Amino acid sequence: MKHRVLIVEDNAANRELLSDWLEAEGYDVLTAADLKTAFSAVENQHPHAVLLDVQLGADDGLQLAHWMRRQARFQHLPVIAVTAHAMVAEESRILQAGCNGYVPKPIDFRQLRESLERCVAASGMASSPD
Ligand code: MN
Repeated sequence: MKHRVLIVEDNAANRELLSDWLEAEGYDVLTAADLKTAFSAVENQHPHAVLLDVQLGADDGLQLAHWMRRQARFQHLPVIAVTAHAMVAEESRILQAGCNGYVPKPIDFRQLRESLERCVAASGMASSPD
C-alpha cells in the first residue's frame, strides 16, 4: 500500500508541482488549498504525512499543526512545513507549532525526499485506520 501525503498549499502551481513530484516518488496524494479543507482532509482522509505551506493565503498554515498536536489521534502524524522565509524566527515558530521539520522554498527535492522518508518511516503505518 502506498503512503498518502496531504499537500496543504494555496498556490495552484506549487500544489501541482508538489503533487506531480510526490506521485512520481510513489506516494498517493491528497491536496488542500485552504485551512478549512486541510482540517477536514486530516480528519477524514487519513494522510500518513502532511506537507504544510506556512503562508496559506491570509491564514497562518501553522494553525493546522497546532491543532493536530492538541488531538491525541493526530499528535504523531508527521508535518513538514514549507516556508519561503528561512529565518531563525520562522524556524522556531515552525518547530514550536509541532512540525517535525521544514523545507525552504524554492524546494530542494532531495531534502524533501529525505525528510519525508524519515517521517514516514518513523510513523510507520500505525496512523492509518484502514
Ligand atoms: Mn502560500
